[in-house]
Amino acid sequence: MTLKKYFPIIVSSPSGAGKNSVCDMVVEKCANVVYSISYTTRPIRTTEEDGVDYHFVSEEKFKKMIDEDRFLEWAQYLGYYYGTSKKMVEEVIADEKYIILAIETKGALKFMKRRPDALSIFIFPPSMKELEKRLRNRNTDSSEIIETRLENARHEIADCVYYDRFVINDNLDRVSKEIINLIEKKSKGLDIYG
Ligand code: 5GP
Repeated sequence: MTLKKYFPIIVSSPSGAGKNSVCDMVVEKCANVVYSISYTTRPIRTTEEDGVDYHFVSEEKFKKMIDEDRFLEWAQYLGYYYGTSKKMVEEVIADEKYIILAIETKGALKFMKRRPDALSIFIFPPSMKELEKRLRNRNTDSSEIIETRLENARHEIADCVYYDRFVINDNLDRVSKEIINLIEKKSKGLDIYG
């Protein structure tokens, strides 16, 4: 059997559980892990940069990209489209690097089917109460959106059974080290469940 040393890494969690911060830290600590930049139809936030945080595109362009099979996965979240570029994933792996994707679960499940070599990790918040606290402290969403995110969180948590590993985000540094350890183990063909 030929071992594939480089593979995609999927990280999902309910929003507010910290998957982006965890992925940022993994990328910061590992020169050979690249962050996937998704395409989205969501409006850009003032803190974001086009081509850095996302590729912000119109719904028309996104749908054209779906028709052209340019996504490895895509999903709708709170009324907007989000998708992972097939080309980006293939190019990063060909460049002998890992690509890390912080994506919601429905798209992640599609991705796992198309790339069974992916390492998939589900991040839990320490508790639902803590998740609600984090979402309120972010100050980016209205109460209504926060309620929707909490409801989504319950559905997303139900999808956790499809992932290779669960981790609890109680400490950013510890969780990022745990993920790096899993990447190293898988790349060496070692058991990631032990
Ligand atoms: P936000 O709008 O807050 O940046 O992201 C909303 C949700 O979409 C988050 O759960 C985020 O991880 C997810 N997301 C971001 N990019 C992608 C993607 O390419 N595909 C999928 N399926 N979800 C994504």
